[in-house]
Amino acid sequence: MSSGFFRFIVYLFITYLIILVLRFFLSARRKGQRSRPPRQLSGVMVKDEMCNTYLPEENALKEKLDGKEYYFCSRECRERFIELRKSQKGDSSL
Ligand SMILES: [Zn+2]
Repeated sequence: MSSGFFRFIVYLFITYLIILVLRFFLSARRKGQRSRPPRQLSGVMVKDEMCNTYLPEENALKEKLDGKEYYFCSRECRERFIELRKSQKGDSSL
């Protein structure tokens, strides 16, 4: 292997490193300029009709039934509520 070729590789590597560093600084500066608003929580607490617990709206599962929105802490609660609703409806229609 000739030393000229080796030097060429080293230069390429150095150039690559410089590009990486420049890119890093450019992206860092861009990030600094763009002041991202912090993820805001609405702070709205909703009630899980099934297990009577309150949880943030963001974490709740939404289900619209008869034009009304219900919230649930888990899919299990939602399924159970829907099943309950179905059976209640069945009873009332009789
Ligand atoms: Zn629940």
